[in-house]
Amino acid sequence: MGDRVSDNGSASLDGNGAPLPLLIDPFDRRVSYLRVSVTDRCDFRCVYCMAESMTFLPKTEVLTLEELDRLCSAFVRRGVRKLRLTGGEPLVRRNILWLIERLGRHLGDGTLDELTLTTNGSQLGRFANDLRDAGVRRINVSLDTLDAAKFADITRWGRLEQVMDGLAAADAAGLRVKINTVALRGVNDDELADMVEWCGGRGYDLTFIEVMPLGEIGGDARLDQYLPLSMVRAALKHRFTLDESDYSTGGPARYTVCRETGGRVGFITPMTHNFCESCNRVRLTCTGTLFMCLGQEDAADLRAPLRASPDDDLLMAAVDEAIGRKPKGHDFIIDRRRRDPAVSRHMSVTGG
Ligand code: SAM
Ligand code: SF4
Repeated sequence: MGDRVSDNGSASLDGNGAPLPLLIDPFDRRVSYLRVSVTDRCDFRCVYCMAESMTFLPKTEVLTLEELDRLCSAFVRRGVRKLRLTGGEPLVRRNILWLIERLGRHLGDGTLDELTLTTNGSQLGRFANDLRDAGVRRINVSLDTLDAAKFADITRWGRLEQVMDGLAAADAAGLRVKINTVALRGVNDDELADMVEWCGGRGYDLTFIEVMPLGEIGGDARLDQYLPLSMVRAALKHRFTLDESDYSTGGPARYTVCRETGGRVGFITPMTHNFCESCNRVRLTCTGTLFMCLGQEDAADLRAPLRASPDDDLLMAAVDEAIGRKPKGHDFIIDRRRRDPAVSRHMSVTGG
């Protein structure tokens, strides 16, 4: 991997010294961001994400950590500059630190700009220092409420205190934290302004997310939970002044800066605002399935070409074929006439 061309996003060289092509989709968008769900398992059962009794993948279907390293590294060689590990809960996968440390070598040689994680925070108490040592600098922590009883209701199996301890460990390790909060009608809508205040006070950026129709979770739960962020923003204006900002983390959030706290407040609105035109990402599941769009069913199997040969020729061909099919955008809809989810897989399969 010492065959890097430059730091400005060029991909590596092939065996003959020719540059490997970057990943450009049919709409001329460059794929530079890979999100990897390293497990579909989780120690929580958040109501909007999973049913209480979930059937998880048999271990034999899941890529080994070595295979995940090989796959991620192939994407890095093709110009991916940012890797985000997610799940399920990435930190409950056994030996996950091995993978994180392995992937950290790409930070060291300059082929990767950022290695990061989306986590529910429950395991940060034991991992924060090791993450920092492996090269992780920022993490996203999902937290929907500051009320312990509500937290237990939303996550079913989680304990707020454990996540708070995890956040303290992340702070002590020097990791920058961004909080992700799903806006849930009738659940945390009365608390969202308090979240802005709290995050501002702790130096955390905060991003609000709309509930997306992914995976069957039982009953009409999601219809009841859906709260458009336009309403959240309108409500926050009673207490705060939110100045528009052109800050971007390369993700889909639109950011504002809260004048009163000085903190950033972002809004991810897949349901009400289509952000597909600037999409730079693809998602890999722990079985090696590549989803070119979070909101579409189309996917490519990378596990078969990965396992078919120890060199990466077949894999690279499959990646090219998949990127050539990346769709223009998604068409999520939460609507009363439509009872089934727009996309049948759960968020824990493709990762957030
Ligand atoms: N377990 C980790 C966590 O909770 O951060 C990582 C995986 S989780 C699937 C990633 C993100 O997706 C979390 O911020 C979670 O709140 C969000 N999420 C899960 N299901 C969702 C849904 N149906 N709509 C919107 N966001 C969802
Ligand atoms: Fe687990 Fe994250 Fe889904 Fe909650 S949102 S059940 S923590 S994967």
